[in-house]
Amino acid sequence: MIDHSTRSIEIPKYIIVKPGASEGLSAFLEMMRFNNVCFVTQKEVLDILPQIKDSIESKDQSVFMVDERPNLNNLISKVDLVHSIRPDALVGIGGGSVLDTVKFFGHILNIPLILLPTLASNDGICSPVVSMKLGNGRSDSLRARMPFALFADVSVIHRAPKKYLYAGLGDAISNVTALLDWELSAQRTGEEIDYFAKTLSIMSYKSLLNFRRASIDDEDFVETLVNSLITSGISMEYAGNSRSASGSEHMLSHAADVVFDSNFLHGFQTGFYTCIILKAYDAELYEKVLELLCDLGFFSYLPEDLFDSGRFSEILKIARTIRQRYTILNTLDDEKLLEVFEDSVSEIRYAISHADSRT
Ligand SMILES: [Zn+2]
Repeated sequence: MIDHSTRSIEIPKYIIVKPGASEGLSAFLEMMRFNNVCFVTQKEVLDILPQIKDSIESKDQSVFMVDERPNLNNLISKVDLVHSIRPDALVGIGGGSVLDTVKFFGHILNIPLILLPTLASNDGICSPVVSMKLGNGRSDSLRARMPFALFADVSVIHRAPKKYLYAGLGDAISNVTALLDWELSAQRTGEEIDYFAKTLSIMSYKSLLNFRRASIDDEDFVETLVNSLITSGISMEYAGNSRSASGSEHMLSHAADVVFDSNFLHGFQTGFYTCIILKAYDAELYEKVLELLCDLGFFSYLPEDLFDSGRFSEILKIARTIRQRYTILNTLDDEKLLEVFEDSVSEIRYAISHADSRT
């Protein structure tokens, strides 16, 4: 139980989302007098940001290279190393693994964080949560700190392989079902809904659903997607947990990670299961979400395994054990959910063929 009377909300002091935002990083660090900075990144990431690479080299700054998906035991063994640098700030530059790593270090060592995401594949770019591999082989979400500043360079994010943008889209749109589950739990269990967290989460998905002529190739749409993911991340800070952005669709996705050995992007799974859960709710937004995802080409990026009802049965067996969270999975049995899955999959397939014939 969170004591809301004393809980503080941490939100970034600086959020810069625009094409070329990364060019302002060095001047920002100087302005803030962060002289001893530890960069957390990857070699291939620095190669696409030569300006930052040159600045790090010329100032002989410390760099911690991330070479794997964050693993709790490994990261704990590296905390001493980062602490010994005594940095004024940690700067994370890269995709999900880099950002989760730096958020973890920032949280444990209580050091201000500056994030520069080079991908927009999930709402972790500005959230108080990290996804971490645990000793038992499973992954879980752990509490971390929010960034002090965020530099989202829309040109860099737009140039990244499209699959990451589609994954970001799938993670942002999952707020629709996360909120339905939160409301269901409020009705059935009396769980409290934080008004502002809910409002931010609604803004996050509505900005995408209401975007006129959305296209993943359009830099304006990519900027809207980045802002949607940031808003979703901040909503979790207001909620005090991930309720506003993670419901039954995320429980199915975490179960799918176990079944598919984490082979598929998080946002592919959450976006796909958002459609299934919307169908289970018989929700008004089901068709609108399906149409948006279909028009943008989301489904053609999904692995065929996700559409397999046999694998979905395996996923269902695990999904309810993922976390203690009241959702629609508490109210429908596996047989009903499988029926919903099969109906929704045929509707998605029909929508894809219909969209193909229009182009
Ligand atoms: Zn997510």
